Amino acid sequence: MKVTRRQFLKVTGATAASFAVLDLGFDMQATAAGVKELRIKNVTPTPTVCPYCASGCGLVVYSEKDSAGKFVKLLSVHGDPDNPINQGGACAKGAAMFNLREIYNEETGEQEINPKRVQKPMYRAPGSDKWEEKDWEWMVETIAQRVKETRDKSFIHKEKNADGNEVIVNRTERIAHVGGSGLDNEEAYILSKLMRSLGLVYLETQARI
Ligand code: SF4
Repeated sequence: MKVTRRQFLKVTGATAASFAVLDLGFDMQATAAGVKELRIKNVTPTPTVCPYCASGCGLVVYSEKDSAGKFVKLLSVHGDPDNPINQGGACAKGAAMFNLREIYNEETGEQEINPKRVQKPMYRAPGSDKWEEKDWEWMVETIAQRVKETRDKSFIHKEKNADGNEVIVNRTERIAHVGGSGLDNEEAYILSKLMRSLGLVYLETQARI
């Protein structure tokens, strides 16, 4: 088929590609309709915040849901173009967020839950080189018991100040608390109140960038 200069300019110009291709004798309408349907069919975009660092970049999670609205599978995760903080961008960690949950198995070509993802509480006893699986109840109870025990053993009620006078200090220096970037202002406020009420003086955050 001979393509005239006019037809060529139409194809490469601003005219919509599908119309241009039609000019060359191809009917792309069925293909275009199929592609459009595939891209949006049952896909739900959900805005969220990256959990990794304090930048707080906005991400959009695209998932497929069935007709009843039930989650079927994760499709992709991208930087949120409507978020004023990152305006659609994401660093290497944020851009790899999809793999936090799922990967493509290179052998089968299938999408599956990332086997390296930790889905249950894991405990390593002092001095041990092995991780054990524990349930949440055991984990929370054990942490509470150890915090109480350590605090009671290390609590300093009074000490002498620079003038040699005894003053009440009510603190422990044997426990520290580290917050994370996933905490919002209110959670950080409540946690700092709780830790101060236990007598902690060492409060830090992972999200110090
Ligand atoms: S880890 Fe990257 S994508 Fe996530 S909040 Fe920080 S800078 Fe943004």
